[in-house]
Amino acid sequence: MKIIEKLLTPNQYSRPCKKMAEKRALILHWVGVGGQRALSVWEYFEYGCIREKRYASAQYCIDLDGAAYRFIPDDEVAYHCGSSQNDPLSGNIYTDWARKVFDKYALDPQRNSPNNAAIGIEMCVIDNEGNFSPETLRSAVELTAELCGKYQIPLDRVGTHHMVVGWKDCPRLWTRFPHKFNEFKKEVQALLKR
Ligand SMILES: [Zn+2]
Repeated sequence: MKIIEKLLTPNQYSRPCKKMAEKRALILHWVGVGGQRALSVWEYFEYGCIREKRYASAQYCIDLDGAAYRFIPDDEVAYHCGSSQNDPLSGNIYTDWARKVFDKYALDPQRNSPNNAAIGIEMCVIDNEGNFSPETLRSAVELTAELCGKYQIPLDRVGTHHMVVGWKDCPRLWTRFPHKFNEFKKEVQALLKR
């Protein structure tokens, strides 16, 4: 699929230029604000994070019209699914799913992070309920299938931010309606089988 290169300028908060240790999983996110466009997300990673001294980024962002942007190369770490807060439910920082999928990257949060082994995909949303446009969904399916194929990532290692950090409502739609995430994965599977 066509990817628009819009690489961030190297900086410590959003593009630290650290080599990814390995690619174990794909993690999907929503941008969190209804109507926000991919280029405005890029501006936040490029300028806002640095201004606010906040660590945040993702390798990809899919716009409302389905355009797929690459902000960070696949072999570099982005800051999208790390955490330092305990999940009140499990008492752990990372979920059981994350601990299984990421193993050493999720078991010692002081020294390691799932970010060292996960590619992050941000998805724009049409409203604050987190609904996706059909174009965003379609491109997310295609990009996910492409990355799964390229890096031999099985479908059960495609997850949401919520599946890694249990208290995160991200992407909101799939946190609230997990069956919709299963439908998404079925569409990815259909592309992988072709
Ligand atoms: Zn997220």
